[in-house]
Parts: sequence; structure tokens; C-alpha cells
Amino acid sequence: MSVDLTKPLEIAEDVFWVGYVVPNDPFQCHVYLIRDGESSVLIDPGSMITFPVVLEKIFQVIPLRNIKYIIMHHQDPDIVGCYSTLESLFPKGKRFVVTHWRTKTLLKHYQWKTPFYLIDQHNWRLKTESRELEFVFTPYAHFPGAFCTYDKKTKTLFSSDIFGSISDRFFLFAEDDEEYYEGVELFHKHYMPSRIILNHALDKIEEKEPELIAPQHGSIIKKGMIKPIIERLRNLDCGLYMLDEKESNVFTLNKLDDLLKRVYRSVLSSSEFSIIAETLFENIKKEIPTVEKIVVTGKSPSVPVKEILVVEINDGKTLKKEFLTESVHFDSYVYKETLETEKDKIGDIYIFGKKLSDKDVEFLSLLFKHIKYALAVSLERELNYEFMEREKRELKTKALTDPLTGLYNRKYLFEYLRKSIKKSHTQNIPVSVAIIDLDYFKDINDTYGHLIGDCVLKQFSEIFKKAFRSSDCTSRYGGEEFVVVMPSSDLKNACNKIENFRKEIEEKTFCEEKGIKITVSAGVTEYKEGMTIKELLEKADKNLYTAKKMGRNAVVCK
Ligand code: GH3
Ligand code: MG
Ligand code: MG
Repeated sequence: MSVDLTKPLEIAEDVFWVGYVVPNDPFQCHVYLIRDGESSVLIDPGSMITFPVVLEKIFQVIPLRNIKYIIMHHQDPDIVGCYSTLESLFPKGKRFVVTHWRTKTLLKHYQWKTPFYLIDQHNWRLKTESRELEFVFTPYAHFPGAFCTYDKKTKTLFSSDIFGSISDRFFLFAEDDEEYYEGVELFHKHYMPSRIILNHALDKIEEKEPELIAPQHGSIIKKGMIKPIIERLRNLDCGLYMLDEKESNVFTLNKLDDLLKRVYRSVLSSSEFSIIAETLFENIKKEIPTVEKIVVTGKSPSVPVKEILVVEINDGKTLKKEFLTESVHFDSYVYKETLETEKDKIGDIYIFGKKLSDKDVEFLSLLFKHIKYALAVSLERELNYEFMEREKRELKTKALTDPLTGLYNRKYLFEYLRKSIKKSHTQNIPVSVAIIDLDYFKDINDTYGHLIGDCVLKQFSEIFKKAFRSSDCTSRYGGEEFVVVMPSSDLKNACNKIENFRKEIEEKTFCEEKGIKITVSAGVTEYKEGMTIKELLEKADKNLYTAKKMGRNAVVCK
């Protein structure tokens, strides 16, 4: 909708916008006029910049003498700056500056002649010739004595500094697009001290159910957009300037605020550092599109993981997370920060990509100033977690393997057999088992001693493990007795495998200098439906016994 901004504009019955649009100013200040005979009301008369045009527009609507009330929502120069001049132009007559007592305490320093009409002493109301204005107290939003003015007749709320917006493009009437909403959010994050204060003001405003909002800054808001704006404003974290003492650019602070929130959310919700690093990367990339890769290295003195953790996130969002034993060194990065907790240096973060501008570097150092500590803590948490995981893995291995040979122990064997048999039922695949026993092993111990006996057992186990598929289970069943479970092998297949293994052992020499030769006997069998694990092993053992009886160095399959 195009409107002629050079003329007074009637936005509701007898309610006029009489402001002046300052060229190229993202921060427009509006002036409104309510025409009501000899008790007309001028709302926030404006500054000396806007005054000449405003005065001209007032003349087009009413004679100056008809203005009886001048509402001043607060005392800022963009609102009251012109009043000394305006006052001197008024003809004689009864006239009041309408405001809150807190504002009066400041305005009195101008030494105007116009008396005050204090809203707090008049039951928050003002009666003019044909209407009644109600005042809505919105303390601290953004001045302690801030208030809004509600015209009951037209349901228009003159909202002062609430509902303003900051925008490069100016529209007198708000357009229902994302850019406008973002301008509104930015304005409130920047101007309002806190979410609680803003919500209190919004509560008071919603009680009035306004149908048109005429703010001091930004655009006039029609009925349909009031509710969506209020909803968005209710969730804002206001008070951007609390973020950083040095930075004064509201756009930078706003970006930083958004980014910090997103990164902190991921720090709090993800236990995995790589996810945090990904969030960080994505958000930095939004700000600085030339960033290609982030690498984080971590090693904490308080965590007994010796290696360095390296997390790499690059453009394709692929992720590399590994532990390196060697020290890592980079030289082509464009930015680097050290991550430290209160006690220790935990790691470094490197950013790679095209050379950064001074502005980018400034932004990154501001960002890291705020998140560095949280990153260091979560990196240390990741290192700790990694350490505990390792301990867990090691404990689990210990619990399921035999310490001398490194083969699986009986506990694991039985678990494995249970699973294999179940699989055999459901998928109809065969499972075979072999018990292998070293022949005359007692003699080896007796001849060479126990230590050499151990040496033979160890070497035998290595060959044993390698002779079967990694999906087979090779285990130490007892002293010099071993069991292998072969899923997917029927009896014939299994028998061949064991026979080959028997030959392999027969040919090998053990414990070098002694040149020990050994042989094995084995009993092989295939699982048949309905058998228990005990029965299965007993059958294999029976076959082994037969092999021994046959003179050893033999395989019996049945
Ligand atoms: P057979 O051919 O009938 O199996 O005769 P064998 O001597 O191998 O059988 P026997 O059961 O009589 O002896 C097994 C020996 O294995 C006895 C035991 O000292 C030895 N042994 C069992 N476990 C270990 C071990 O961990 N280390 C060593 N060095 N010897 C072991
Ligand atoms: Mg034996
Ligand atoms: Mg034995």
C-alpha cells in the first residue's frame, strides 16, 4: 500500500499521523494528533529535526490553539525536543503537558510554562470533549515511568517505545513479513531491559485489546498483526547490552546473542563434543561464509587418556574424530583459540578458510570470549567420557577372555553357543563344534617345565585363532583343551577345517630354541535340533575320547 507521507494521515477516526520521515534513518520517530475540537491532543511532539514538518501538518488538521493536551510518554529528546519552541508559538489558553510523575521530575528542568497533568493523580484517565483516553502503566519499558495511551473510541494504542522496530526500509504501516518481525525483535532486545519487564507491559496492553497500535518508532500495526507480534515478543531475551561491555553495535550484539544461545543449547544438550563442534561450525559459517573447516584438539592433564583427541568438521559436514598418539600441528589456519578450564589447558581450536577480515576476527574473538570456557569444559567432559569408555571396554575384554592365551573364556563360549543355536533355529543354518585337546601335554610340562608349557599353549592359541574365521568363536575350554564354534558349517565342512588344522599343528615347531613338536586330537559334531548345549559339548567330547583311543593325532567327526 502506498501512502503519501508528505501529508497528515488519518489512521483512525480523527487520529492523525503528523510525523516526518527522516531520510536514511533506521530509527524513525512518530508524532500523532487526536482531533477533538478545542481539547485536541498532540502525542509526543517530537524533536527539532521533525518539528518544521510536524508543525506544518498540524496546521493542515487543526489550528494550533485547539491543542489542549500534549502527551509526553517520556522525556527523551526525540519526543520533547521541540517543545520549548512549540510552547512559544501557542496562543494564550489552557493547556497541559500530560505525563507521569517520574517524567515530570525531569521535564521540570526545561522550565516550560505549561502546567502538568499527572496521569497517576487522575486515575490514569483523561477526558477530552468527545473521548476518554486511558493510560497503561508499563514501568521500565524502557523508562521507569513509561506508559502507553489508549484511545477507547478508536481502540488505538499509542504505545510509546513498545512495538517499535528498527529497519533499513521504512513503511508507515507494518508489512506482514519476516524482515519486519526481525526488526521488531531486534528493537525490543536492544531497548527493553528484560523479558519479565516486557511481558509485564504486554500483559497490561493485552487487557485493553487494542485494534491498532501507533508506536513512537517503526511502523503502525494493524489488528491482524498485533497478536503474532505479542507472541514473538513474549519469548525474547531482552537486554542485549548486558552481553558485552565493549561492543556497542546492536547488530553484532544481536548476532552474538543468537549464536551464543544456539551453541550453549548444544553444550547443554549434547554429551558428544563432535555435535557441539558441528553446531559451532554451522553457526560460525552462517556469519563468515568463507570458513571451511574447524579442527579441535584436546588433551587434558587430569584425564589419563594419553592420545590427543582430534575433531574435524569440514564444509561437507563430514566429521572426523580420532585419537592420535603423535602431536598435531597446523600452520595454515586463519584463526586459533586456546581452550582452558580453571585448572588446565584442554585444547586448541583452529579455524581454516580464506583470510579473515578485521571485522570477522573481531567477531570471532568476541564470540570465543563468551564460549571458550564452555567449550573447554565440554571437551574435557568428552575426554573423561572417552577414558571411561576405554576402561569399560578393557574390563569387558578382561571378563570374557582368558589371560594366558587371549582366547575367549568359557563364559563367552556359552553365551556365543546360545546365540548361535538360536540363530540356527530361526535362520535354519547349521552350527558345528569341535573340542581340541593337546596330546600328551603333561609330558611337555614334565620335560621342559611349566613355563615352556605356557609358551606352547600361547603359540598354539595364536595359530588356533588365525586358523578360523573371525566370526567363529575360538575359546580355551580348560587347561590344554580348546573349543571352536563354527556357525554356517555343517559336519563335513567343519571336519575338513579341523583336519586341516590338525595337519597344520603337526607340521609346526613350538618355542623355537626347544624345537618342540606337538599333535592334537579333536572331536567334531554338528548341532541337531532339540540338543542342549551340554549335550552338544558332551557329544564332541565323546568323539574326542574316541580320537584319543584311536592313538591320538586324529579327528573324529560324528
Ligand atoms: P592326553 O593326550 O590324554 O590329553 O594327555 P595329556 O597329558 O595332555 O593329558 P592330561 O589331562 O593328563 O594332562 C594335561 C596337562 O596339561 C596337565 C596340566 O598340568 C597341563 N596344563 C593344564 N593347564 C596348563 C597351563 O595353563 N599351563 C601349563 N604349562 N600346563 C597346563
Ligand atoms: Mg591332553
Ligand atoms: Mg586334557
